[in-house]
Amino acid sequence: MGMIVIGSSGCASLGTFNPATGRNELLLISTYQEVALGQEVHQTLSEQYQLSTDSAKNARLQRLGQQMASVSDRQDYQYTFFLVDEDQLNAFTTPGGRIYVFTGLMDRLTDEQLASVLAHEIGHCAAKHTAKKYQSALGYNLIGSLVLGQIASDSARQLASISSGAIMQLVSSSYSRRDEYEADRLAVKYMQRAGYDPKAVIGAFEVLKANSGGSQIPLILRSHPYLDDRITAVKQQIATGSVQP
Ligand SMILES: [Zn+2]
Repeated sequence: MGMIVIGSSGCASLGTFNPATGRNELLLISTYQEVALGQEVHQTLSEQYQLSTDSAKNARLQRLGQQMASVSDRQDYQYTFFLVDEDQLNAFTTPGGRIYVFTGLMDRLTDEQLASVLAHEIGHCAAKHTAKKYQSALGYNLIGSLVLGQIASDSARQLASISSGAIMQLVSSSYSRRDEYEADRLAVKYMQRAGYDPKAVIGAFEVLKANSGGSQIPLILRSHPYLDDRITAVKQQIATGSVQP
């Protein structure tokens, strides 16, 4: 639930302050509900995707993932990283700090570039873009019912019209342009906090661009569009140093 925050100016504004965005935000679903929703979504995803059993690749993802998670503005849940065993350029985030990276993307990136992709996804978590996206698509009442276990069976879920197809569509649906710029800004900030060169954010974009030739648009670009504009914005942020915490 949101709370009323009385600022020093005496003005009341609705919501809680989010250090990632610098704004007061009203989010209806609680952290507990968001984590439970992420577990529900994972059920569907684990039916659709094969998770990698490669221990070296998983260790690389966990090491870089936890390193970037440790510098996130949001620490009210545990971040979890999953490696999907598919040769696709893709990565996405679901509620509750669950980040999925595809081997096809990870294998093409250096450690620093992979850290920057993870920092971007963690940025979506910290700015609560993911929670808001699911909240507005599914509705607060539905999420509340899910969390209370009132919609448990598959048939009930069908009735509630969250078919696995709808969840898969939501997983790959895009964020707003503003959310993408914000996640990029946070990626640069978290790279700096973790002691990495923030230029790796641009390096990762260049890898995506290089692999986006031909008729096949990488999946990650469907959910994270406007690549050229974002490269320009990130270059500007790094040059002006306007991303310091
Ligand atoms: Zn994004």
